[in-house]
Amino acid sequence: MSLAKRIREANDFAESYCIRKGEKFRLKDIDPADTGKVDDKSQAKEVLAEGVQMLAQMQDMLYADNRWAVLLIFQAMDAAGKDSAIKHVMSGINPQGCQVHSFKAPTSDDLEHDYLWRCMKDLPNRGDIGIFNRSYYEEVLVVRVHPEFLAKQRIPPELIGKRIWQDRYEDIRNFERYLTRNGIAICKFFLHVSKKEQKKRFLERLNNPDKNWKFSAADVQERERWDQYQQAYEEMIQNTATEYAPWHVVPADNKWFTRLVVAATVVGKVGSLNLGYPKVSPEARKALDEARKRL
Ligand code: ATP
Ligand code: MG
Repeated sequence: MSLAKRIREANDFAESYCIRKGEKFRLKDIDPADTGKVDDKSQAKEVLAEGVQMLAQMQDMLYADNRWAVLLIFQAMDAAGKDSAIKHVMSGINPQGCQVHSFKAPTSDDLEHDYLWRCMKDLPNRGDIGIFNRSYYEEVLVVRVHPEFLAKQRIPPELIGKRIWQDRYEDIRNFERYLTRNGIAICKFFLHVSKKEQKKRFLERLNNPDKNWKFSAADVQERERWDQYQQAYEEMIQNTATEYAPWHVVPADNKWFTRLVVAATVVGKVGSLNLGYPKVSPEARKALDEARKRL
């Protein structure tokens, strides 16, 4: 099968999980346990391996082309599988052209600046893939659920009104418009895990000594705010899903399926960029011929 056809297929598959306009989006309409039409896990593994290989080829071209950058944003509740999706989907990637940044609670240096500052510093270079494991979206999620975090930001009080979240959605939409207009292609993933599956994964972390390190007491505290988070996620997607930077709401109760959707989405996105290896000019060709002779 030709590369173009495989890219088209990946795009068609990923499309079912893509939200471009959010007004009517409801999180409850998406089943976290959904596995689409794929019911064979071992077949999914084969398809994923193929996707990983395609991504490696496409990354090589992205790097050589050196005009586009790709930004992948991952958001999710704890234990939804962000880390493992990143690890598996990117397993064939050349580390030289890919950087992962995890955004945790802001440092005192971060708090000296506006909230986009720390993320802007870590945007990918042209030719590279940048991965944000959490991102500026936390500013309308955890910060919304915990108003005490907003207080720490030292924003002049007269600028914090009832419309603060609407203002932030608008700023984020505009920021992403700016990035996409500058050749930074954006894929945003919300890994949608169920409350039941999260409990199962937390128990695994508690019961398996090799996974104990992954557990944090804060995880349980945040789980108690489940409904507030779900509401914040839904509203965030409704307000920041756009044509130029859509959200991909990925069922996350089955990790093998999550990886498949993420891989297909990235293959589809990078494949749509019209990448090509730079053409050699006649003068440069002469120089190459000369170099060959002199070897
Ligand atoms: P895991 O899924 O493995 O738990 P994680 O992404 O949750 O990974 P942690 O180190 O557990 O990583 O948590 C990072 C924490 O930092 C999250 O609870 C997140 O909400 C918080 N955080 C990120 N950005 C901000 C922000 N701007 N303000 C406040 N807290 C933030
Ligand atoms: Mg965590």
